[in-house]
Amino acid sequence: MEVLYKSTRGDQKAVKASEAILKGLADDGGLYVPTRIPALDQTWEAFARMDYAQVAYEVMKLFLTDYTEAELKDCIARAYDSKFDSNEIAPLVKAGNAYYLELFHGATIAFKDMALSILPHLMTTAAKKNGIENEIVILTATSGDTGKAALAGFADVAGTRIIVFYPKNGVSPIQERQMVTQKGDNTFVVGIHGNFDDAQTGVKKLFADVRLKQKLDAGGFQFSSANSINIGRLVPQIVYYVYAYAGLLRNGRIADGEQINLVVPTGNFGNILAAYYAKRMGLPVGRLLCASNENKVLFDFFRSGTYDRNREFILTSSPSMDILISSNLERLIYRLTGEDAAKNKAFMEQLGAAGSYTITDDMKKELEIFYGGYADREKTVRQIRAVYHDSGYVLDPHTAVASAVYTDYREETGDDRTTVIASTASPYKFTRSVMDAIAPDHASTDDFALADALAGLCGAAIPKAVTEIRNAPVLHDNLCEKEEMADMVCRFLGIKD
Ligand SMILES: *Cc1c(COP(=O)(O)O)cnc(C)c1O
Repeated sequence: MEVLYKSTRGDQKAVKASEAILKGLADDGGLYVPTRIPALDQTWEAFARMDYAQVAYEVMKLFLTDYTEAELKDCIARAYDSKFDSNEIAPLVKAGNAYYLELFHGATIAFKDMALSILPHLMTTAAKKNGIENEIVILTATSGDTGKAALAGFADVAGTRIIVFYPKNGVSPIQERQMVTQKGDNTFVVGIHGNFDDAQTGVKKLFADVRLKQKLDAGGFQFSSANSINIGRLVPQIVYYVYAYAGLLRNGRIADGEQINLVVPTGNFGNILAAYYAKRMGLPVGRLLCASNENKVLFDFFRSGTYDRNREFILTSSPSMDILISSNLERLIYRLTGEDAAKNKAFMEQLGAAGSYTITDDMKKELEIFYGGYADREKTVRQIRAVYHDSGYVLDPHTAVASAVYTDYREETGDDRTTVIASTASPYKFTRSVMDAIAPDHASTDDFALADALAGLCGAAIPKAVTEIRNAPVLHDNLCEKEEMADMVCRFLGIKD
């Protein structure tokens, strides 16, 4: 049965999956949501026998119904290949009383690779299906990891260009280095003076700029988005939750149908929304734990029902979660209103105008399967240290936030269901924070020397993603103010203002 996509804000003209993927954001500024959530149509026994690519097909075919079987399988085969340094693609590792679902074995050693290695193929396939002749210009705001993962995914993909904006002082040195050394004639990287929310708001404005759109069209270009609002990002992220459950079953860790908890370190609410969709498709989930760092807007929201971004923006040790406007939450709010686009739009307008909104008591009831928690910097450090000491397993700071929230949750509730923690980055991406936690008397000032030291401690080889950028030349040194983003786009595309 066909699944179509409509906006969360009122433009209810339903479009096909491939059109939603091409457009990214709906014309009215809303996010595309599926008109229904399909149910998984394989038994768990069958899923337990599948490899990652097979699970990916069985999940994605249910959402991307206008892709043929051959198209979808081709996209999957191109995405989940030797770019990943694990045959399992997303291995599950037990440490302490939880399973860590390692989503960091792709090209840029962070979980964004899971979706961004397939998105370019979904998008170029979509362009072909829809007779698009314009070049697709991917416009992305990044808090660190999306940028590089999108660059790696789109570099040298014919018919596409990619422009990435990142907060100049808001990403880790290794993250920045990964981006500014990116190869590919179709790539463009710009640091902005501002934080991630400035970058994201700026990108949203560019998408909404009608005049710019006309100029682009005249030049043979059109924008699309690789940010986590694109359903082409969301759908591939549902896959690994199904795959993790199947793996637990295969290894006799759970019984068929037994509920598990999922813990997700959260920023833009994309990864955890995928987990929520997985649950609605039939994945047996008990609680969904939403873990935040000091930018704990979501924690406060789950407690009080008020989403309030009016607060200080804090730079933490988990920069990819330093976000005050969690864009994908809009899809959940839309759901909580009973899929009432007008009501959702009113909340989003309040967020735009006053920076906050409060949901109704009825809407709150629907939130019960979520548990919000947060961990500050100190607690995150203690968690990295504790897990390392207890089990020798090294967590990156994002995963450590989730792990710390899980420890609190388990103590608070006594809920001892089997639990999977989404492990969203390799510790090698945040070597300084990690080494400060597990070897606090290290003397190194250089991040690469720290990577060597970390490899010594965990007895594993440094991932290729780190060794590769060590001596790579800087190819991008563009900087701009947040008001200048449109000019930068025109400059790169060679369009006159
Ligand atoms: C992006 C990211 C997150 C947050 O994921 P969202 O889908 O934005 O909630 C967490 N950890 C890491 C390492 C990330 O890159």
